[in-house]
Parts: sequence; C-alpha cells; structure tokens
Amino acid sequence: MFQAGFVNLFGKPNAGKSTLLNALVGEKLAIMSPKVQTTRHRIFGILTTGQYQIIFSDTPGIIEPRYRLHEKMMSFIKSALEDADVALLMMDATDDIAENKELFASLKLKAPAILVVNKMELVSAKVHKKIRESFSGSFIKEIVAVSALQQLNLQQLLEAILKYLPESPAYYPEDALTDRPLRFFAAELIREKIYHLYHEELPYQSAVVITQFEEKATLTKISADIVVQRDTQKGIILGEKGKMIRQLGTLARQDIEELVGRKVFLELYVKVRDKWRDNDIFLREYGYLS
Ligand code: GDP
Ligand code: MG
Repeated sequence: MFQAGFVNLFGKPNAGKSTLLNALVGEKLAIMSPKVQTTRHRIFGILTTGQYQIIFSDTPGIIEPRYRLHEKMMSFIKSALEDADVALLMMDATDDIAENKELFASLKLKAPAILVVNKMELVSAKVHKKIRESFSGSFIKEIVAVSALQQLNLQQLLEAILKYLPESPAYYPEDALTDRPLRFFAAELIREKIYHLYHEELPYQSAVVITQFEEKATLTKISADIVVQRDTQKGIILGEKGKMIRQLGTLARQDIEELVGRKVFLELYVKVRDKWRDNDIFLREYGYLS
C-alpha cells in the first residue's frame, strides 16, 4: 500500500514552521522556492520514500504580525487547510496555550488535525501535561511534541501523519524532486501563470511539460509544452496574435529567473492532446504518475 497526500502546516509566526519543514525535507529541497504557488497551497517540500509521499505546504496569509484575524483571511486559511489531507497545527510550547487553542478552534477544521507542540526542549514536563490536558477531548486527533531545531520526535510526527494520510499513488515523480527540482519548479511557475491568466476550466485541463532545461554559458534555456485537450483551448492559450502566450511567457520567465538566479530563455509551445487526462500512459510520460 502506498500513501500520498497534502499536509498543510499552520501556526503563528515564529512557531517554527520553516525550521520543521527544513528538518523534515532536508537541505536538498530547501531550495523550494517560497514563491512557488499552486492554487491554494504553497509547496515547501515533498518527502518521498518507498512507502509514502508527503507534500508539505503552508497556508498563505498568516504572516500577519499581530494576528488580526479578518474573517475573509480566516475562511481562506480554512479552505486551504481543508483541501489538505492532514492539518498540522503548530504551537510554540512556550507560547500562550489558550490563545493557540482559540486560534485553532476558530478554524473549525474538518481535515484530521495534529497538534505539533514545538520547542519541546524549552519547557518542563508539567507544561507538556498542561498542554495535553488543555487540548484533550477537542477536535485534535493527535498531539506530538517535537523540537524542530534539535530534530527530536520527528519520526513520531511522521508516524502520526501516516495514520491519516490516504492510500494513493504519488502525485509527483520522485526524480523531479530530487535530481531535478529546478525543472519541476519551472513547470510549477508556468502553471501558476496559467492559473493567473486564464479562466474557468482551462487551467485544470492543461498540463505543463518541460522538454528542455539546459544550462548554457550565459543563460538557462528552457522549453516547455503546454498541453491542452482541444484546438479551441489552444487558441485561448495563444490569444489574439499570440498576445496571451507572450504575456504568459514573460511573466513565467521573470519568476523562473528569480528562482534560478540567472537569465532564462523560455520557449513555450502549445500542443493538443485529446483526453490526455484520462490516459495513463500519457500521464506517466508527462510525469503526473510515478
Ligand atoms: P516560523 O515563523 O513558524 O516559520 O518559525 P521559524 O522556523 O522561522 O522559527 C522561529 C524561531 O524559532 C527561529 O529562531 C528558530 O530557530 C526557532 N526554533 C524553531 N524550532 C525550534 C525548536 O524546536 N526549539 C527552539 N529552541 N527553537 C526553535
Ligand atoms: Mg517561516
């Protein structure tokens, strides 16, 4: 049985979210661009083993310094967390317990929630007990105390996540994330721009495939196919006299340049493939199945 899913991390600033993600996914993927954005999730790292794939993301919009919880922001956070298969709610063990509890409760989550009590080494057993008691009988499914900084209990945290992670094939091919993260993120950045520029179902019916990624002396040359299902969609992607795809190319190129830290020459092609979404072989070829 293989398990795969999206795990969303939520917590106040300074709780230790970045430290935890770095500890879990390691240096190699710390390159993960903080700018890379899918629809609602910001992917931070992907942990793939022979048994599971965990896609960690954080929730946009909680960088708010003093925590003014606007309703709109909260509903956005809530929906992002609910899209996830597992929600990790992180608190700093030295922080105010009641305040964190209230914050987490206000999310009214449906996704299974794990309370991650970080900076465990800083507080006494008595405080840990108090936290446990305070959250017991609530919507929280599991409580795991960790130290992201000292990398304590991370295995326990992974085990708790796996209890709730669905049985599913991997979402992302492993090699794309270990050997070729830049390639992968270049595709994600192009995808992000497609979401941004085009409407309705088009983004969901298109795929981005990097066909060339070459580091030349002065720049990185990237070619990508945007694969759609129908000719009419191809027309929309291109826009009148190619106006839309030029805009797409410019926006994507700027972001990719920021990601790779050098000049990029980006070529985009639009290809029509009938019913590509239903075709396993095609999906595999294009890296959507492992
Ligand atoms: P974020 O704002 O939630 O992403 O928090 P960061 O990961 O940036 O961490 C905030 C601060 O807490 C940093 O100074 C970290 O070094 C520190 N920190 C994170 N995890 C731990 C931990 O387990 N123990 C201790 N003592 N400090 C930690
Ligand atoms: Mg952070």
